[in-house]
Amino acid sequence: RSNAEKFEFQAEVSRLMDIIINSLYSNKDIFLRELISNASDALDKIRFLALTDKEVLGEGDNTKLEILMKLDKENKILTIRDRGIGMTKEDLIKNLGTIAKSGTSAFVEKMQTGGDLSLIGQFGVGFYSVYLVADYVEVISKHNDDKQYVWESKADGSFAVSEDTWNEPLGRGTEIRLHLRDEAKEYLEEDKLKELVKKYSEFINFPIYLWASKEVDVEVPSDEDDSTEEEETAETTTSEEEEETDEDASEKKPKTKTVKEKTFEWERLNDMKAIWLRNPKEVTDEEYSKFYHSLAKDFGDENPLAWSHFAAEGDVEFKALLFVPPKAPHDLYESYYNSNKSNLKLYVRRVFISEEFDELLPKYLSFLKGLVDSDTLPLNVSREMLQQHSSLKTIKKKLIRKALDMIRKIADEDPDEFHNKEKTDSEKESEESEKKGQYTKFWNEFGKSIKLGIIEDAHNRNRLAKLLRFESTKSEGKLASLDEYISRMKPGQKDIFYITGTSKEQLEKSPFLERLTKKNYEVIFFTDPVDEYLMQYLMDYEDKKFQNVSKEGLKLGKDSKLKDLKESFKELTNWWKDALSSENVDSVKLSNRLDNTPCVVVTSKYGWSSNMEKIMQSQTL
Ligand code: ADP
Ligand code: MG
Repeated sequence: RSNAEKFEFQAEVSRLMDIIINSLYSNKDIFLRELISNASDALDKIRFLALTDKEVLGEGDNTKLEILMKLDKENKILTIRDRGIGMTKEDLIKNLGTIAKSGTSAFVEKMQTGGDLSLIGQFGVGFYSVYLVADYVEVISKHNDDKQYVWESKADGSFAVSEDTWNEPLGRGTEIRLHLRDEAKEYLEEDKLKELVKKYSEFINFPIYLWASKEVDVEVPSDEDDSTEEEETAETTTSEEEEETDEDASEKKPKTKTVKEKTFEWERLNDMKAIWLRNPKEVTDEEYSKFYHSLAKDFGDENPLAWSHFAAEGDVEFKALLFVPPKAPHDLYESYYNSNKSNLKLYVRRVFISEEFDELLPKYLSFLKGLVDSDTLPLNVSREMLQQHSSLKTIKKKLIRKALDMIRKIADEDPDEFHNKEKTDSEKESEESEKKGQYTKFWNEFGKSIKLGIIEDAHNRNRLAKLLRFESTKSEGKLASLDEYISRMKPGQKDIFYITGTSKEQLEKSPFLERLTKKNYEVIFFTDPVDEYLMQYLMDYEDKKFQNVSKEGLKLGKDSKLKDLKESFKELTNWWKDALSSENVDSVKLSNRLDNTPCVVVTSKYGWSSNMEKIMQSQTL
């Protein structure tokens, strides 16, 4: 083309495309759901703009917010078009090639270590999956602010963009033409596309149509064989009475005959009923799981660990659907402190507003997926005004409460978990159920988030502390909870004992434990660096204080002998303190915390533990 401008793909994008083209990955189907998801995103964007400016929708077909697919068997072309926001020339150049997203290199890395290609959408590079099935792709796009352009590439390291002077005008939106590879011919079969939409794109909130063939009955003039019959019929008709004319008329039919003929029409492939608007009682577990997969762009085999579907009523009305994913995303804690990303989609009265509306959930719950559909928030105001709307606070509060309930339920239903009550029959039955081990799984994936919650959310600290799990001197390789710890406390024991360090193995040898274990006290092992911070915030639980056993202040019940002993050893302890000088120690005390070890260095109550010193050192180095 004479007016084409050529561009090189950004290096990482180019590598990504190479990987996709050469992939032996067998599930090539995923490209369709990525394209449909992009079309749906583009439609969401124009619908959102139309809230404040109706003009953007234009008129006629342009106002129809839909996705259309067509097959061209002869030329082996699959076309997907939408009437979404479209892309300007600059958008085409930036979004489809020259600007790498943060997920690009993360995805390339994942692929090189045998990652699952179907997760491509989570990394924000789903578009390029088209090269699983096509060797040449054209993207024709019309944005309200620009002329119509064509982007095209054979995935050979470069792409071209030209002003479109030869295709039919789109009005607005994007049309993607996939020139399919020979091995991908199956995507020219209508049944295949219908199956894929059903499987992956069932929950898209815009109608998806396929230009599908249909057999219709057509009347055509009959041939000569029939005409003899026709004459016979004609004869009888004349000799019969009037009443029978109706019947005769039908017998006359052989004059013409019915044949099947193929025509085409737009066939709707999805039914578009928003799942969160339905009555929870009428939604099956399978539907929830499927919805989760499409919402989270997570197409692994694993189902969500839990979900919560509810409607809030009163001053602030909304419906919400929350999921606990089966696995933490690749970058959950990487950017924890400098991002505020929430994974809840916000809808206002069915209209999609935003993918990442940070005000809906606190950071520590950002691992949840889901959506909120509010009836109370105003529709036609700017995003900034929405963010300041007073009902958001109420929504957030309710969401947190529901989220924590949902997580607690995973533990309650897990037969491996501590249950501080007699098991009912149904619980015994569930011993072998699929819920077994679910909470351990949750904890291994998201435990850190719960700990961060305890640190950050003073208001829900106690609820979050209930969800805390740890190993201890009595947990026997399993995870225990604070409730379980309390149920095992010795009579007269006032505090919850814990020790911090880098590993359980190291801590088990600690002299600080000698006497405690001998006396049958349980001590919690905290071995995650975040635990040190955690324990600065978690002061007590159910009226029991926490006591770090390597710190000053450990009390193991009453020991009447200790007071006398302290007196008689006073000379020694005083001498020792002078010998070490006050620069090095605050005090030297006689203690009943040890058994075999003659002495230990204990840190002061409000100072850092030795483990914390190590953590701080490693951070400043
Ligand atoms: P993601 O959808 O996660 O952003 P993709 O690789 O699927 O990543 O798409 C890249 C970008 O290309 C999108 O963010 C969007 O800006 C643009 N895009 C892709 N398809 C369309 C479309 N049908 N209409 C408008 N823009 C699109
Ligand atoms: Mg996409």
